[in-house]
Amino acid sequence: MKIALIAHDKKKQEIIELAKNYKDVLADHELYATGTTGTMIMGETKLDIHRMKSGPLGGDQQIGAMLANGEIDLVIFLRDPLTAQPHEPDVSALLRLCDVQRIPLATNTNSANIILEAMKNGFFHSAIAPKE
Ligand code: PGA
Repeated sequence: MKIALIAHDKKKQEIIELAKNYKDVLADHELYATGTTGTMIMGETKLDIHRMKSGPLGGDQQIGAMLANGEIDLVIFLRDPLTAQPHEPDVSALLRLCDVQRIPLATNTNSANIILEAMKNGFFHSAIAPKE
């Protein structure tokens, strides 16, 4: 699977912890991330990650383009709901495209934990309804 990992600044530590906890699961997949998120996760876990531009500089849109092309299977996007983001339109567009493509999306760590736990136990794929 192709998995996108993104975290707003105040959620970077949470996504690093998540990546550490599920390193073995994530290592079996092709990982993509926005610039800073990817650099930080790689630094802490040594996971191999394709890095896009930083989110505010277009990274969310790059992930969005992949979504539109059906090239991403899962998005973990730990959003900071309490801080205004300069690139909010890009964030909204990315989330919208997940729904357009019916791509599983976790926007907080507890949701991400449930999905990654399902992957770890091998029943993630069967939970996804086939695309129309
Ligand atoms: P970043 O971008 O990983 O480059 O910080 C994330 C975002 O803010 O969308």
